[in-house]
Amino acid sequence: MRVILLGPPGAGKGTQATRIAERYGIPHISTGDILRANVREGTSLGQEAKRYMDAGDLVPDEVIMGMVADRLELPDAEAGFLFDGFPRTVPQAEALEGMLIDRGAPLDAVLRLAVPQDEVVRRLTGRRTCSGCGRIFHEVFDPPVEPGRCDDCGGELTQRDDDTEAVVLNRLDVYRSQTQPLEHFYWERGLLRDVEAVGTPEEVSERAAQVLAEYHGA
Ligand code: AMP
Repeated sequence: MRVILLGPPGAGKGTQATRIAERYGIPHISTGDILRANVREGTSLGQEAKRYMDAGDLVPDEVIMGMVADRLELPDAEAGFLFDGFPRTVPQAEALEGMLIDRGAPLDAVLRLAVPQDEVVRRLTGRRTCSGCGRIFHEVFDPPVEPGRCDDCGGELTQRDDDTEAVVLNRLDVYRSQTQPLEHFYWERGLLRDVEAVGTPEEVSERAAQVLAEYHGA
């Protein structure tokens, strides 16, 4: 199964991607996660990407395409993949299309997660990550027992640099101007499927699974 998850920041792509990838036994490929790992490790790619990420701007297409090409070479991607946060621009989508044609392995579907904008801002600005184990909490929807401390490991909860309100608003603008055109790109190819992304993670997963059953016969 080869699938893309599309939707604004805060639509729940990360959460849904983990669930769907587990269900179908395919790797969850998040370009944002790969970039953050590079930033943490201080690689040259990470150093270049950080200034774009901190501002909520997009990392240049060539950097992203190099990373994705490398990732698709790993053996687990033979079973398929689920992209989360990629592609983000029409040139990225065109480059991916070319790569998949060369591999003889076209996309099955593009799921669009739909949520209202005010909900997205609330979700993102309340997100907190444990600096010890990486567990994600939410100040309103999933708060820790002790404020600022992880329930699992006691680590300090921090806000992602790009989850402050000003940066979130910029990420939404960038989404509208650069990523939203992909909806039309994939709609023209008959690949776009809508999943309403409000409700609990379980409810959203169930809707996504109903759509994907068409491709997997599950
Ligand atoms: P995410 O975790 O998907 O929200 O990505 C975090 C940040 O990483 C984005 O705001 C961008 O700066 C950068 N990024 C992630 N994926 C891409 C991509 N496909 N194209 C360009 N920039 C990206």
